[in-house]
Amino acid sequence: MHGDPHPAALKVLQEVFGYDSFRGPQQAIIEHVMAGGDALVLMPTGGGKSLCYQIPALLREGTAIVVSPLIALMQDQVAALEQNGVRAAYLNSSLDYHEAVEVENRLRAGELDLLYVAPERLATARMQMLLEQTQIALFAIDEAHCVSQWGHDFRPEYRQLSQLHQRFPQVPRIALTATADVPTRGDIMEHLQLQEAALYNSGFDRPNIRYHIAENQGNAKEQLLRFIREHHDGEAGIVYCLSRRKVEETAAWLERQGLTALPYHAGLPPEQRQHHQSRFLREDGVVVVATIAFGMGIDKPDVRFVAHLNLPKSIEAYYQETGRAGRDGLPANAWMAYGLQDVITLRQMQQDSSAADHQKRIEQQKLDAMLGLCEIISCRRQALLHYFGDHLDTPCGNCDNCLTPPETWEATVAAQKALSCVYRTEQRFGVTYLVDVLLGKSNERITRFGHDRLSTYGIGKDLAASEWKALFRQLIASGFLSVDMEGHGGIKLTANAKPVLRGEQTLTLRKPSNKPSKAKTARRG
Ligand code: ADP
Ligand code: ZN
Repeated sequence: MHGDPHPAALKVLQEVFGYDSFRGPQQAIIEHVMAGGDALVLMPTGGGKSLCYQIPALLREGTAIVVSPLIALMQDQVAALEQNGVRAAYLNSSLDYHEAVEVENRLRAGELDLLYVAPERLATARMQMLLEQTQIALFAIDEAHCVSQWGHDFRPEYRQLSQLHQRFPQVPRIALTATADVPTRGDIMEHLQLQEAALYNSGFDRPNIRYHIAENQGNAKEQLLRFIREHHDGEAGIVYCLSRRKVEETAAWLERQGLTALPYHAGLPPEQRQHHQSRFLREDGVVVVATIAFGMGIDKPDVRFVAHLNLPKSIEAYYQETGRAGRDGLPANAWMAYGLQDVITLRQMQQDSSAADHQKRIEQQKLDAMLGLCEIISCRRQALLHYFGDHLDTPCGNCDNCLTPPETWEATVAAQKALSCVYRTEQRFGVTYLVDVLLGKSNERITRFGHDRLSTYGIGKDLAASEWKALFRQLIASGFLSVDMEGHGGIKLTANAKPVLRGEQTLTLRKPSNKPSKAKTARRG
């Protein structure tokens, strides 16, 4: 173990920040950076990354330059530092010319301990000149995964940060992130030239968060309400939805059910967003219903649950969003409902996006990994940590799959029926239509296309419509079927379907649940 903390560092921790002792690897990181070393810090949300550069900033000569991608984040950090009597400021597009000049003057005069700067600003000639005239204590690069195209939040401006090291080779650098899988980590080291840096990896596990991924049984809102009433009555939480409209609908609906639920998305007037955010921070038991615009930089330790009414685009996004629960270390729940429509919508959004082909492929792989996490029947935490290159030897005992092992069924024959139905109807139709054919429904469209004369017509009466839908979801999620975007969203076979159709591959799948899931969720006290 590490020896006694550096007396000056401990003094700053206690007198400036008001904490008794260092947490986890903070002490080691702080001492390393104080002594002029470079560091790459991987620490989960809530782990206490900020102090790792803020304390060295106060103890080293000069001003620390902190690169941060989000204006809101900078403002919060600077406000919090100022409250502790630290001389901090930021430079970003929210300042007008005169305000920016004033900050620049304070920097030149050596009156700042920390300066937060947006990455695009750092690369400007004006900023470079300013830095040449400044004594720089260190560079901190927050949200360092933004430098990687593998990361889930690539920012091209981060690439220019490599210049910092070339121009100021003697200044120590500390890069920090809470979400980086193994390839992203490699990118960070390469693009920020941190190959020689000390790596501090505290692992990604958030043991107090209980993961729970439920099947959307057609009315996810009701499922959510049941979950909140049962486990989080009067507690603070965040509900994530994909669209602004759904945010507003859900918040209004939860209000009518008697909860304090406030909408938050980028389309609301700034005053209203600010108002809802501050109510969430100050009052007890407020639920914020939000798009992913909400959450970055919000430091509320007692968020007891994070719920997703839509599937996140990647495991990183899921991990980052659920990570906002339980920062105080007390039990918290990450709850999600997902269904067939989520899979189709996200696949569609990906296809329609204007991203370059290689970027689309990366996004595709990330979504596949997320879907894999939804469908697995083993420990979710083991899978989640494995994705980030961490290992957990035994199942966690604190996720839905550990607490209530899901039932499985031998789905090969049903899958063959579904896949041949897709094939016989010429790979042009959506799931609703396909299920009707399997169930032998008679309707005008089926008759018009002559699909009531197919061998697959009515061969699926042994299963309910909801079970067929769940099976289609699983077949799409596991890559046996794809959604055709050039056409009208028809379902198509992929190359993976062949071995199943030929009987060369069997399929064991999670059994769809027809009744509300009874899996236990974390409860306090
Ligand atoms: P991260 O950026 O890793 O998500 P923060 O730096 O925002 O985490 O810290 C998370 C919370 O933990 C904050 O409320 C912070 O004040 C608190 N914290 C950090 N270090 C300590 C410590 N040594 N002792 C007590 N609380 C701490
Ligand atoms: Zn588990």
